[in-house]
Amino acid sequence: MRVHHAVAGVLRPRFAARAICHVLVVEHEAGLVLVDAGFGTADLADPRRLGPMGRALRPDRDPSTTALAAVLALGFSAEAVTHVVLTHLDFDHAGGLSDFPHAVVHTTAEEWAAATVATHAPERLRYKPVQWATTSDVRRYAGAGEPWRHDLTGHEVLPGITLVPMVGHTRGHAIVAVEGDDGLVVHAGDAAFDASAYGARHATTGKPLRRVPPMRAFEVAASRQPWRIRGNHAALRRLQEAEGVTVVNAHDPRVFPGEA
Ligand SMILES: [Zn+2]
Repeated sequence: MRVHHAVAGVLRPRFAARAICHVLVVEHEAGLVLVDAGFGTADLADPRRLGPMGRALRPDRDPSTTALAAVLALGFSAEAVTHVVLTHLDFDHAGGLSDFPHAVVHTTAEEWAAATVATHAPERLRYKPVQWATTSDVRRYAGAGEPWRHDLTGHEVLPGITLVPMVGHTRGHAIVAVEGDDGLVVHAGDAAFDASAYGARHATTGKPLRRVPPMRAFEVAASRQPWRIRGNHAALRRLQEAEGVTVVNAHDPRVFPGEA
């Protein structure tokens, strides 16, 4: 499968480094598959729908920084996107759903429950149901799934695309692995904010990455279960070190191939 990398949001918080919303656009036999959806055109047109946390992240209001713009730039129509696989439903990952209302959405059952039956006050701030109000087909995957790699388990949601639960950032967070033409591409979502945490190298220069303390602090502050962060970083490091595997995360622009 051909895997494209796209920027679906640029964040400029005052309290942390500039960040991006990194999404994958996968050419699959079932149509185009997005891994994460970033911000949508409606979010950037009216950031008030993101609430106070959205304002704090200060996304660029540039419609070229959406998954929809990336799909069009690749020469496809919005309708070509038939599936969206989400690492989680935070508003900086699920906003693009409203640009692809016909797409089938895949997420963990635990994440769907957290986002739709949010009883925990901070969860009401992070999830914005308006973003998936036009989505009609949501496939939910409960529990651990089947043994996958190392000690991880997962749900193969489409041939060659596996949703691997990695809880911590949210109650139902997962990473998403795609068997690409050039090896396995793993989208770690928000299981690491600073890609130096799992030993990634700069996508362009190949150099080791420096630690970014404000991003580490923000990661802890934004985590539902911060005690899981260290173990998740270790799991990502094992994946990153395996032959033929590339791990990218959602927000660190240094692991984005090309200019971000
Ligand atoms: Zn995020």
